Amino acid sequence: MLSVILPAYNEEQMIQIAAQTISRILSDAHIDFEILFINDGSKDRTWERIEEASSADDRVRGICFSRNFGKEAAVFAGLNEARGECVVVLDCDLQHPPEKIVDMYRLWEEGYEVVEGVKSDRGRESGAHSFAAKMFYKIISRAAGFDMENASDFKLLDRKAVNVLINMREKNAFFRALSSWIGFKTTMVSYEVQERMAGESKWSTRALIKYALTNISSFSAAPMQFVTFFGVLMFIVSFVLSVIAIYQKLTGVALGGFTTMILLQGFSASIIMISLGVIGYYLAKIYEEIKGRPRYIISKETKKQTGTGD
Ligand code: UDP
Ligand code: MG
Repeated sequence: MLSVILPAYNEEQMIQIAAQTISRILSDAHIDFEILFINDGSKDRTWERIEEASSADDRVRGICFSRNFGKEAAVFAGLNEARGECVVVLDCDLQHPPEKIVDMYRLWEEGYEVVEGVKSDRGRESGAHSFAAKMFYKIISRAAGFDMENASDFKLLDRKAVNVLINMREKNAFFRALSSWIGFKTTMVSYEVQERMAGESKWSTRALIKYALTNISSFSAAPMQFVTFFGVLMFIVSFVLSVIAIYQKLTGVALGGFTTMILLQGFSASIIMISLGVIGYYLAKIYEEIKGRPRYIISKETKKQTGTGD
């Protein structure tokens, strides 16, 4: 069976369309499936729509978070709850074309364990946004060691890969990169990002910045190395300045040197503060991880599993 995971945050208009479109496509392709909606603390009527879809169709299930935990958490909840031998994750705004699920499934049948959906274009994005996205993917690609530029959350994973992912203890897991990091026999399916059918993008600039920072820190310690780098740079600058100062002292032309002092003071103080901030950020992340809080909290489920399941 194929489990289709759909994280949903304020997607009341999309639930029914998504469930119907995906059911139709998979039924036509004679693929046995279940659809699993994860309501990520929506503030609109998304959960009611999921309950309706679930009672209308046996193959549709829903999980409701107690509040908004973010898309990553929703994806991991889906992986945890999925019962299929393979699992596909896609956005419920259908920007990831559901027809491609069939192609992915056929590749899985051929023996591939991870099928990555790769964007053939990035859709429409504004200037500043696309620049920030480029920077983010540069850093992440570097850290992860593979090209993430066109990676997306649209993927199919074999049960083996799913089990590896759900057994990872990381709280700030970055699904998009982890699914490549785990390895396995991988292939790609390219797709064109569709226009969102209804509703609007859930990502505010603030949410995107937070998302970028969390994921960079979860995959790379490079920002901490910047600290060392600036430290070394400062050391070289101050060394040169010291040599000059001593030379001036010895030749008796030592002037006030006040400007240099001010510059050095201000400069080094700010670098120290930035560095402490970076270290503090990582400390906070470590703190978050060791507290061992759950990644998400489920408040309700439709068709709650009892006993051994199927
Ligand atoms: N989403 C979620 N939790 C959030 C934000 C988004 O589950 O806190 C879901 C959303 O419902 C959608 C998917 O993640 O199914 C992608 O979100 P969106 O379409 O807003 O992002 P974009 O396509 O604009 O990058
Ligand atoms: Mg979208």
